[in-house]
Amino acid sequence: MDVSLKGKSALVTGASRGIGLAIARALANAGAHVVLADRDASVEKQAAAMRAQGLSASASVCDVTVESQTDQLFQDLGDQGHVPDVLVNNAAIMIAKPAASMDRIDWNRTLETNLTACFFLALKASKGMVERGGGRIINLSSIVGRVARPQLAAYISAKAGIDGMTRALCCEFAGANITVNAIAPGFITTEMSRTGSNRFDGYVKTAVPARRWGEPNDIADVALFLASDLARYVNGQTIYVDGGYTAAVQ
Ligand code: NDP
Repeated sequence: MDVSLKGKSALVTGASRGIGLAIARALANAGAHVVLADRDASVEKQAAAMRAQGLSASASVCDVTVESQTDQLFQDLGDQGHVPDVLVNNAAIMIAKPAASMDRIDWNRTLETNLTACFFLALKASKGMVERGGGRIINLSSIVGRVARPQLAAYISAKAGIDGMTRALCCEFAGANITVNAIAPGFITTEMSRTGSNRFDGYVKTAVPARRWGEPNDIADVALFLASDLARYVNGQTIYVDGGYTAAVQ
């Protein structure tokens, strides 16, 4: 099985912690040079820690919603010889409140980060991929793109949008040997999903057929598959990595 990414460059957004960091590590372990991008400056330390372990990694402090910063990021990637073969659109925010209390600022911030930024990063990355004869775009969706819960209207709408955008860009880019797929994680142990509620913890362990939370590495392994040659004919798909949650009647 060829999961080697030797000679490839990957850009992972929101990579200072959680799922993004796990994906960055998995791709670097497979031999890629990985650029970890995050608005949180601690991303520099994460890249340094990876280099100390013999992995090829660099960092960029970048807010994915600011066009001038993402332009600069791609300029730097070109100058450094790290035009991405793989883009992982992972950075996202979650604002939890009832739909009735959500204002336009909450809505726009969520859609800007979780959907619009992913679209424009995909466009920027696709240019270099076309020149290099192909590439991989991996978008982080969510189970809530398919099954909704209260208090997350903007987040849910953005993630359902990610699934549609993934299919749309698959159709546009397939001819250039670029695949565009999404991963929809279930309940994964990260800062974003931490509620501190024993009741919610109990719900997850009962409702998920696997009877456990997912780990960031459960997602990273699927990202590695999608980035590798093994997934060359997988395109336009949203892959649910949720311990069976969306397959089960609740
Ligand atoms: P985290 O909140 O732990 O990490 C997200 C990272 O993205 C943070 O470092 C955050 O920085 C960064 N980020 C947010 N906004 C921006 C921005 N504008 N520019 C650059 N970086 C930004 O999230 P997870 O690791 O849990 O989630 C990763 C992905 O997986 C997300 O797309 C999420 O929606 C998805 N997902 C997660 C699930 C889970 O259970 N954890 C379930 C389903 C989907 P900062 O700290 O400054 O906000």
